[in-house]
Amino acid sequence: MGDPLRECRSAAEWAAGAQVIEIANKMSDFEQLSAIVGADLAALEADKMPAGWRDSDVAGTLEFGFADAQQLLPRVKCRVTVTVDAVCQRCLEAFKLPLEAEADLLLLRLDQEADGYDEYEVWELEEKLLRPQDIVEEMLIMAMPFSAMHVESVACKALSPKPEKGAEKMTTPFAALRDQMAKDNEGSA
Ligand SMILES: [Zn+2]
Repeated sequence: MGDPLRECRSAAEWAAGAQVIEIANKMSDFEQLSAIVGADLAALEADKMPAGWRDSDVAGTLEFGFADAQQLLPRVKCRVTVTVDAVCQRCLEAFKLPLEAEADLLLLRLDQEADGYDEYEVWELEEKLLRPQDIVEEMLIMAMPFSAMHVESVACKALSPKPEKGAEKMTTPFAALRDQMAKDNEGSA
């Protein structure tokens, strides 16, 4: 079976089928996103490069339908998450950056206008056929912060007090953070 994310159909067709796509992909399925994340990680020394950063899970859903009763305005409700490996701009260490993107998009042709749909963001259809993957990828790229940084000061070497000489552990700095995030995720799941 092909990946429905890569199928090309017109927006009206996606909407008419009330298509729901469960996103269960890897970072490596998204070329542009991978290129951006890879370029960021290129700043790291080779031995600090997080292994398997291309294998991060991209998960979420796309729900197609129509915004109006006349079925002239296709829309898609998108929710997608991924945890990317990023370089903290403060301490220059790798860390796990969770990204979440959510949007209600109105899928409009360039010659189409819609008034009174302020709750939607407009996605302009530049081509006849729509590939859902392009929506997911652009949403994730837009969700990337301009400057990625550790949120918690305890995790950031530039913010936490310097360890005493000799007390520095040889574990990877983001292992503890990753464990903590795994615990947090369990808690919220
Ligand atoms: Zn940091």
